[in-house]
Amino acid sequence: MLTVKARAVDGPDKAFREAEIIRRDLDAQDVLIEIKFAGICHSDIHTAHGEWGPVNYPLVPGHEIAGIVTEVGAEVTKYKVGDRVGVGCMVDSCGECVNCQKGEEQYCLNGNVPTYAGVDKYGEPTQGGYSTHIVVTEDFVVQIPDGIELDAAAPLLCAGITTYSPLNHWGAGPGKKVAVVGMGGLGHVAVKIAAAMGADVTVLSQSLSKKEDGLEFGAKDYYATSDPETFEKLAGNFDLIINTVSAKIDIDAYFSLLSLDGTLVNVGAPPEPLEVNVFSLIGHRRSFAGSMIGGIRETQEMLNFCAEHSIVPKIEVISADQIDEAYERVLASDVKYRFVIDTSTI
Ligand SMILES: [Zn+2]
Ligand SMILES: [Zn+2]
Repeated sequence: MLTVKARAVDGPDKAFREAEIIRRDLDAQDVLIEIKFAGICHSDIHTAHGEWGPVNYPLVPGHEIAGIVTEVGAEVTKYKVGDRVGVGCMVDSCGECVNCQKGEEQYCLNGNVPTYAGVDKYGEPTQGGYSTHIVVTEDFVVQIPDGIELDAAAPLLCAGITTYSPLNHWGAGPGKKVAVVGMGGLGHVAVKIAAAMGADVTVLSQSLSKKEDGLEFGAKDYYATSDPETFEKLAGNFDLIINTVSAKIDIDAYFSLLSLDGTLVNVGAPPEPLEVNVFSLIGHRRSFAGSMIGGIRETQEMLNFCAEHSIVPKIEVISADQIDEAYERVLASDVKYRFVIDTSTI
């Protein structure tokens, strides 16, 4: 077993502290990764604060992991020492159910193993990327193309795939009008990806404060949702709306922006239920959907797509001592647009 350095939190109101955690000995299919960078996702904050259900503390969050392979198990075929690799939100699944067989491991019928706050096949709690090393079975590791720096690659492992997958599934592309709700970590990547897919992209953000960035990322239009006129002007306008906001919003108002057969996909996960007025859906055969990350094959496809289209998240690299401060700033929407921890400072 390997004892490695990490940053852990001991309870919902606790600050992060230095910690040591155990990584398992390599199985034949395992890869040991020296983590170089770990993104800070809003899910880390929800989980660390215990907002998504009980947590076994101490907790080491982090599921946007980019690093270098430093050791491989005897039967590993996909990776070798020195490879640039990533790990996202899950580290294992049953591999046998119908969804796993389809390559949709995130929807494993037996439950995928989350990168942190989960339980692995040995019954041990999983601990995430705010650490110096991680051991993962090779099937849940993806290759980071040379064109993408490791620090900028990290957020693609959650924010990138979380938005790529629904854009891909619901056919964002030329001739499609796509709206992205929220211009945060997820939203800004969604804008870049949807624009690269050829869609006509509009940002719907609380204010116009990030308008210049949004247009630079590839959006054609940018509207403030705090302005009631926005909802009158854009009524019935969009084929697809990706809602990245993980707080309670007036979802009915957004349904009114969908065209005939339009779909609103929630990728943000607010802790409390949203109120849906079904009349908003049936009038124009509209759909309300959800989507959660993406399968491993699709995650690799997303990374290759981002490399091909020079898509990189806009990041702010921080040291491990700044995690608490970064959490506060994410909650205050004071980040452009993703914090990434330089794990050499752990
Ligand atoms: Zn995430
Ligand atoms: Zn499965």
